[in-house]
Amino acid sequence: MNIQLPATSCTGCSACMNICSVGAITMVEQTDGFLYPQINDEKCIKCGQCMKVCHALGFESFNKPSQCYAAQVNDKDVLRVSTSGGLFYALADSILSEGGAVYACNYDDDYNAFIQRFDALEQIAPVHGSKYVWSDSSLSYPLVKKDLEEGRTVLYTGLPCQTAGLRKYLKKDHENLFTVDILCGGAPSPYAFQRYLETLTDKEGRKNLRFQFRDKEKNGSGVCCTYYINGVKHYENYLENSFYFAFCSKSRISWRKSCYGCNYKSLYRASDMTIGDYWGVEKHHGDFKPKDGVSLILVNTEQGKRLFEKIKGRVKYVMSDAIYAIEKNSLVKEPAEGHHKMPDNRQAFFEELRRSDWDTADRMYLSSRHKILKKQKLTRIPRKLMRMFKK
Ligand SMILES: Cc1cc2nc3c(=O)[nH]c(=O)nc-3n(C[C@H](O)[C@H](O)[C@H](O)COP(=O)(O)OP(=O)(O)OC[C@H]3O[C@@H](n4cnc5c(N)ncnc54)[C@H](O)[C@@H]3O)c2cc1C
Ligand code: SF4
Ligand code: SF4
Ligand code: SF4
Repeated sequence: MNIQLPATSCTGCSACMNICSVGAITMVEQTDGFLYPQINDEKCIKCGQCMKVCHALGFESFNKPSQCYAAQVNDKDVLRVSTSGGLFYALADSILSEGGAVYACNYDDDYNAFIQRFDALEQIAPVHGSKYVWSDSSLSYPLVKKDLEEGRTVLYTGLPCQTAGLRKYLKKDHENLFTVDILCGGAPSPYAFQRYLETLTDKEGRKNLRFQFRDKEKNGSGVCCTYYINGVKHYENYLENSFYFAFCSKSRISWRKSCYGCNYKSLYRASDMTIGDYWGVEKHHGDFKPKDGVSLILVNTEQGKRLFEKIKGRVKYVMSDAIYAIEKNSLVKEPAEGHHKMPDNRQAFFEELRRSDWDTADRMYLSSRHKILKKQKLTRIPRKLMRMFKK
């Protein structure tokens, strides 16, 4: 049997590594900073299990949502620190209060994102908010398997490719497993994130750093990155923050290779429930204020319906229509224009980053950011002069 795992479409879920009974697979970091599986031919017994559980080689369990909601968590403090409508907290709260286990993305002390297991609500605070960086799910799958075998209820939340990877790894559905994916446009490189963070602080200083994507304090749920260094809070919009720009501007230079042709940017979903931003909610559901952050919920399976029943008392919600959600969130229709194309200079960007530093790579490969910022500065001066003149 010819054992070959995918290269470009590999999402790094680690199902293959975890299923291999002889430990022939290790996850190895490539130039772009993402982990990819490497097979040790001397150890491999050619059983083919790794290819069987690889969702990138075939995922058969897509579902079209049967229900769609706009929603916000009732707890206003939680809503403030959540990226969208705080649905994740409502879901975690309901499962943990039943004695279940929750899996979600957290940072370690050095801002490496990974999927962690939680079994108490007090542990959930650091999980609030999107971490716009690829997260490592490699340790989580065997833990989920163990929890399920022990009869525990499990809520697994993460990127669509992570929930798909888990389902393939487990090989069958479980009554006590609820999978929730987030709408995902693409995940930036963890190596790029580390090199960017170096511009704010060295590794030692990282413990005193508090970095947050999409802080709602100034801009509502609009785009703003903030970081505290030595107690001083800095605000940056998406143009000012070079890491955010590399992630979400048209350059899309920092994504994982698999993100450009990703099958999960679609209305057909790979999990029981999908949550994301409900952009344009005010047009159809005037009760919701977009600046507070509003969640879109897609209920994709019968299991998803059961999960929604569990959180009804914890959220303000209104039934909606996926057609409305599609209007402003192209991820649930089909990948937005340009999402399929890997930038020609992506590899050169990462090579430069390995050679030099974040600021150099930013100047060389995110030049459009600098051009727009310069233009903005130039138009600001005459505006200032006009104001002075009027006074
Ligand atoms: C890389 C990435 C890209 C995204 N792109 C879009 C998009 O284009 N359009 C859109 O509508 N929504 C997108 N989202 C989802 C959105 O930003 C919110 O995460 C989501 O709506 C949940 O918000 P919340 O208020 O319910 O919970 P929050 O408390 O804000 O988020 C916590 C939830 O997000 C998960 N999470 C956070 N970061 C990660 C990560 N790095 N890896 C895996 N899971 C993570 C946690 O496991 C938990 O389930 C993206 C999220 C990520 C991480
Ligand atoms: S074929 Fe079997 S032994 Fe070889 S790497 Fe895959 S799972 Fe491991
Ligand atoms: S997608 Fe997951 S299972 Fe497939 S090769 Fe990559 S890490 Fe392995
Ligand atoms: S875009 Fe697709 S492949 Fe990339 S992180 Fe999101 S779900 Fe995974």
